[in-house]
Amino acid sequence: MKYLLLSGTIMILACGCTPSVLKAEKTATSREQPAVQTPAEPDLKQLPKLTRDDFNRIAALMDLPLFWSRDGQNRGSLDPDELCILGVGTKSEHYIQGKVFTPNFSRIYRSMVELRRREAVARELDQGRPTLVHTDFKKASDADKAIVRHITTAARIIEELYALQEGSFHLKSCLLPGHPPSQALFRRNQVPWCRAPETENDPFCNACPDFPQKISGLYPPTFQKDKDMCQKLSDELLDPFVVVRGTPEKPEAVPYTKEWGPRMSAVARELKAAATAIGDKEEQAFKAYLLAAAKGFETNVWGPVDEAWAAMNAKNSKWYLRIAPDEVYFEPCSRKAGFHVSFALIDPDSLYWQEKLTPLRQDMEKILAELIGPPYAARKVSVHLPDFIQIVLNAGDARSPMGATIGQSLPNWGKVAEEGRGRTVVMSNLYTDPDSKAIHHERAASLLSAESMKYYCEDQRLSLLDIILHEAAHNFGPHSDYKVDGKRPGAIFGGPLASTLEELKAQTGALYYLDFLREKGVLTAEDRNRVYNHALVWCFGHISRGMFGPTGKPKPYSHVAAIHVAWLMREGALTWEADQLAANGKDQGRFSIHYDKIPAAVDKLMQHAGRIKAKGDKPAAEAMIDDLIKGQGYQLVHDQEIKERILRHPKASFVYSVTF
Ligand SMILES: [Zn+2]
Repeated sequence: MKYLLLSGTIMILACGCTPSVLKAEKTATSREQPAVQTPAEPDLKQLPKLTRDDFNRIAALMDLPLFWSRDGQNRGSLDPDELCILGVGTKSEHYIQGKVFTPNFSRIYRSMVELRRREAVARELDQGRPTLVHTDFKKASDADKAIVRHITTAARIIEELYALQEGSFHLKSCLLPGHPPSQALFRRNQVPWCRAPETENDPFCNACPDFPQKISGLYPPTFQKDKDMCQKLSDELLDPFVVVRGTPEKPEAVPYTKEWGPRMSAVARELKAAATAIGDKEEQAFKAYLLAAAKGFETNVWGPVDEAWAAMNAKNSKWYLRIAPDEVYFEPCSRKAGFHVSFALIDPDSLYWQEKLTPLRQDMEKILAELIGPPYAARKVSVHLPDFIQIVLNAGDARSPMGATIGQSLPNWGKVAEEGRGRTVVMSNLYTDPDSKAIHHERAASLLSAESMKYYCEDQRLSLLDIILHEAAHNFGPHSDYKVDGKRPGAIFGGPLASTLEELKAQTGALYYLDFLREKGVLTAEDRNRVYNHALVWCFGHISRGMFGPTGKPKPYSHVAAIHVAWLMREGALTWEADQLAANGKDQGRFSIHYDKIPAAVDKLMQHAGRIKAKGDKPAAEAMIDDLIKGQGYQLVHDQEIKERILRHPKASFVYSVTF
């Protein structure tokens, strides 16, 4: 599980434009040279349609004597009789002959679409503010340098594997030479598709000029035409470490190692080489993991790898590495594990919260079990509380186009997960640069009252607490492998809803345990309030990203964020004051946090969310989503104001630099 801060336009040119005309245009020449180089002959029918506004705007930008006069017939499509030729006595034959568009016009139209695509690509990129993650190994030992080299090489191969999973690997050939922004988009997003809030639903936003659609590499393309594909696949086919191949009549589960054998072996070789660089005295836990992981990449058996991984900790290794298929959020069914690398150094601050929280972990499970009640009963938990890590490099599924995973609890499956022996980390060096801090403050001050901002969280260590508790809470209460009538959450709720509920439990848990820590004397009431404030600003960030992806798939963190805000509003712990100015003195309409009312409101939500998971109560889960995400309750969230104010600042888009 990870925790993110804060991810029918068929072109029918016109009724009069026949296929034969479209074909003929391929050899047409004209005096009218388009201002933008056009891609290699994509089928016009596959291009998205320009709106009338865009058509006229772009015609002006390209200095074309064209104007779409009115959008009468065929709404949304330009018809020949709607095209007005500008100027005095300009010949229309260049563009229209009889009642059809000429091949020359079609070519110009394509170049207009290309310009619109390039605008969208630039907008997508501009929504991410390059934010540096730099690690200097100049003073490191030769052995450490060799380790870093081998792991960064493995990371490059992992990105290829991830691109194969995403279905984007073979699309790279679409890139036009001479348009660096398209290349930059593909490199940043690892796919040609757009991921930023303002452009992810824009049909023109694509690194490829021929606008390939999203087709996952994990299932046959024919399967993906069926909207209910995920519901129709058996548990065996939905195993996290297999791809689906074959036909709808005879589907086949193919292990990752069989599908992508040579690349996985190449990863294994790099990991073994990194292990070889380590001697026989120090870093033995890390060495054991490197060798175990190499074996995992050769066998597709991940249990022993997780054992070796869980045996590492902040005391026995200065490194943090997870190289494996893990998270499922990226793929249409939210069931298959995506390849990633998270490579980091242990932050020495790690031990501070560990020492505070470790003695309390069994109590934390106990109070949660009591709050939820039967059928859930407290387990013995041995969760290792989060290590702080300083990221060196993220790759594959761990490298987000914008924002970054700032906390993670793994593994998701198997004995180590079932027995609560997983490892949880918090990435402590991200968003700590001065620019990021200033933006975070401005965002909070644009939505909260001055009174609420008194508890704005400035303290670095404190600002990590809700993240640490979120990750810890994944291990408490009904977890990912908890079964009701022999069924796991994914089978009960469906993958996306199960992901949302697990994240809801974890994030609600983060708030729930804050007051417990105050009672235990670990936190003052003021510091508890600061963390509440921090968690709410986190919610605003995720609400600004929208509730659903372009294909209608729910965004789990956005759902959790909206549920929190709506719930706190209902409980009076949060109020919206429409006629008051926010703390920045500029924006009208603000949230006020009533800190003293938060604990009771959160207890209630924790109980509700915990019971849904403990009982496998799908109707209750759906009722909550119907109300707080899709219905009346969502009105309380004020998403328009949040979006407008949060999206003023580009999100961080992390760029990595490793020097030797
Ligand atoms: Zn989480």
